[in-house]
Amino acid sequence: MAERMAEEAGLNVLVIDRREHVAGNAFDHEDASGILIHRYGPHIFHTNSEDVFAYLSRFTDWRPYEHRVLAQVEEKQVPMPINRTTLNMIFGKSLSTDEEAEEFLAGMAEPRDEIRTSEDVVVSKVGQHLYEMFFRGYTRKQWGLDPSELDRSVTARVPTRVDTDDRYFGDKFQQMPANGYTAMFEKMLDHPRICILLDTDYKDVVGKIDYDRMVFTGPVDEYFDFRLGKLPYRSLQFRHEMVDQEQFQPVGVVNYPNEAVPYTRITEYKHLTGQVAPTTSITYEYPSAEGDPYYPIPRPENQELFREYDKLANAEENVLFVGRLATYRYYNMDQVVGQALATFRRAFVETKEA
Ligand code: FAD
Ligand code: UDP
Repeated sequence: MAERMAEEAGLNVLVIDRREHVAGNAFDHEDASGILIHRYGPHIFHTNSEDVFAYLSRFTDWRPYEHRVLAQVEEKQVPMPINRTTLNMIFGKSLSTDEEAEEFLAGMAEPRDEIRTSEDVVVSKVGQHLYEMFFRGYTRKQWGLDPSELDRSVTARVPTRVDTDDRYFGDKFQQMPANGYTAMFEKMLDHPRICILLDTDYKDVVGKIDYDRMVFTGPVDEYFDFRLGKLPYRSLQFRHEMVDQEQFQPVGVVNYPNEAVPYTRITEYKHLTGQVAPTTSITYEYPSAEGDPYYPIPRPENQELFREYDKLANAEENVLFVGRLATYRYYNMDQVVGQALATFRRAFVETKEA
C-alpha cells in the first residue's frame, strides 16, 4: 500500500510499525551463524497470480524453490500432503498407478452428505484412519480446537494426491526472494516519499500527525478497542536453534501430527535458502493461545463477530483496513499482496477516474 500510494498516487507516506523492523511476519534476518532465518516461522512464497508475481519481481530477484514437507508418523517420515508414496509407505503397498491409489483411497473414504467442517473435508476423502494419523492431532494442537469445530477451509488448504507429486504447493510460481523478504520490503519502501517510524504503536502518534488517509494492518478488534468483544486469533511461540551439524532433516519442514509432541513442525532454513554451511538453523513451532496474533480462527461464530467489526470498519472515514489481521482472513502472502493492490486501485485510482 505504501509503495503504491507513494509511487503511483504521488502521496507522502509514513509507515508505522510497533515492532523494531519492517516486513511484518515475513521478516527474516541472518542469525549468529549467518543462516537466513524467519523470526515468525517459515514463509514460503507461492502464487498462481501473474500480477502479484510481476509486482513483487520489481523489488527482488528469485531463487526457485519447491517446498517439500514430511510428516513424522509412527517411526517413519512420509510425504505430506498424502500422496501415493505416503500410502505405499504407511500400508506397505505397491500401488503403482493413480487409478490404483484412487481406488485404494475410495475404499477408506467415508463420504459425508455435507462438507462443513475441517473433519468432514478429510474424513470424506481419506477416511478415519488417515485423518487421525495426519490431521486430528496436528489440528487440535495448532488451533486448540477439534477439526469438527473449524471451518472446512482450514484443512482444505492441504490437498490429497493419488500421484507421486510430493511438493507442498501446486502453484504456478514457487520461488523465494533471492536475498530474503526483509531485503525485498526494504527495496519496496526505499522511496523519497516514504518515511518509516519503527518501535511505535500508531495509537501513540495518531493524534499528533496530520494525515488524509490511514491504512490499518493490525487486528481489527484492537482498532476498535475490543468494543464488541475479543475476536479470537491463534498465536505461536517459536524456538530458534543453531545446530552443530550440517543437516538436521531431509526437507525444509517436518510436521509432527502426534498430539503427544508439543510442537507442530520443525523448519530447517538451509533447504529454503540454498545456503551451504557446516552448521544449520532450525525453528520449532509451539501453538499458543497467548501472544502476538498470527492466525484468524475460521469458524462461523468468529466470522459473525468479524462481520460486526467489518461494519464499523466500513463506516470509519478515511481509514482502509488491509491484511490478514485487519480483514480477519487466513490469507497467504500473495493473497495479501493481491488484496492490497486491489484496495489501492479502488481507493486511489478508480475514485479519481470517476
Ligand atoms: P503482518 O505481516 O502481520 O503485518 C502487520 C504489521 O502490523 C505487523 O508488523 C505488526 O507489528 C503491525 N501492527 C499491528 N498493530 C499495530 C499497531 N497498533 N501499531 C503499529 N503497528 C502495528 N504466507 C505464505 O504465503 N506462505 C507461507 O509459507 C506462510 N507461512 C506462515 C507461517 C506462519 C507461522 C505465519 C504466522 C504466517 C504465515 N504466512 C505465510 C502468512 C503471512 O505471514 C501473512 O499472509 C502476511 O504476513 C500478512 O501480511 P499483513 O501485512 O497482513 O500482516
Ligand atoms: N494440517 C494438519 N496436518 C498437517 C498439515 C496441516 O492437520 O500435517 C492442517 C492443520 O489444521 C493446519 C491446516 O491443515 O493448520 C493448514 O495447514 P498449512 O500447512 O497450510 O498451515 P500454515 O502453514 O498456514 O500454518
